[in-house]
Order: sequence, then C-alpha cells, then structure tokens
Amino acid sequence: MSERIAVCPGSFDPITNGHIDIIRRGLGVFDKVVVAVGHNALKQDLFTTEEKVEMIKECVAPSNGRISVDVFEGLLVDYVKKIGACAILRGLRVVSDFEWEMQLSLMNRKLYGEVDTYFLMTDFRNLFVSSTIIKATVSAGGSVRGLVPDPVLYKLKEKFPFMNTD
Ligand code: ADP
Repeated sequence: MSERIAVCPGSFDPITNGHIDIIRRGLGVFDKVVVAVGHNALKQDLFTTEEKVEMIKECVAPSNGRISVDVFEGLLVDYVKKIGACAILRGLRVVSDFEWEMQLSLMNRKLYGEVDTYFLMTDFRNLFVSSTIIKATVSAGGSVRGLVPDPVLYKLKEKFPFMNTD
C-alpha cells in the first residue's frame, strides 16, 4: 500500500505548541506529515519564511523522517497534488475557527476532488494559543513560556529583547 501523506499547511508565524500537537498527533493517522509554510496575504508576518522553516525543523526533530518541512506558493491543492499527498491536516480550536475552516476545506475539495481535509481538535492546554496572541503578548513584554517550543522562545527574544522569559 502506498504511503499516506498529509500536508499540514499554515503561516506558522511562529509555530506554537498548538501546531506541534496537531502535527505529532497527525502521525497517528498518517505515515508522514509535511508541514507546509505558506504566505497568508491577509496577515503581516513577523518572521521570514527562512526563519519559520528553521524554527519548525528544530521543533519537530527528531521524527524518524516522518515529519518534513517545506514551503509552498500558490494554491495549496496544487502543492498537495505535486507531492502525492492524500489529505490536508488542520487543527480546530473554537467555534469561530470552524466557519473559516469549513469554507477552506470545501473550496479545496472543489478545486481538487481527491483531497479531504482532516481536523484534529486542539488539546485543552492549547485552546487559547494562536500565533497572533503569542506575538501580541511578547511585544508587550509578557512571557509565553510553555506555549511555544524553546527554539521559538529564543527567536522571539531576539526580536523582542525586553520580553519576559520566566
Ligand atoms: P493559517 O494562516 O492558515 O490560519 P496558522 O499557522 O494560523 O495558519 O494555523 C495553521 C493551522 O493550525 C490551522 O488549522 C489552525 O486552526 C491550527 N492551529 C493554530 N493554532 C492552534 C492551536 N492552538 N491548537 C490547534 N490547532 C491550531
């Protein structure tokens, strides 16, 4: 049987413990998970794509080759086709995520009928964690220890030297 590969797409600006949890749990369902960093034109990024990729690689290691990190541009479904993936993996937190995620998954299926989106419910510890709230907190000097992996904490400290890391 061929390998079941899922693409976990996102902006990852930066990757948080919420994302990591979804990616790792995805390995319980799929043989491989490809973390695909895309640029969301609706969001203004703090980190460059290179910085994001470097951080994600550090955060998902070691994975026995089951998690890889890549960059994609353009339509997600074109990327999914290109690498021979069978699924898109996304996380859900609150009801407000649901409406957008449903639209996205239906649009992706319209564009490419052979791909399905699989959702994993967030762990309760990451329910309130988003890249946006992480950035808002550190830019005001607060600590996000325990909400992002250590490599991300150090990288945030480079951008916001005054932030609390306790
Ligand atoms: P996007 O710009 O595509 O929304 P994000 O990097 O914000 O990208 O999120 C990528 C995916 O990870 C989305 O499915 C999002 O719902 C999910 N996600 C983000 N934060 C969490 C979290 N704390 N718990 C579970 N899933 C999450």
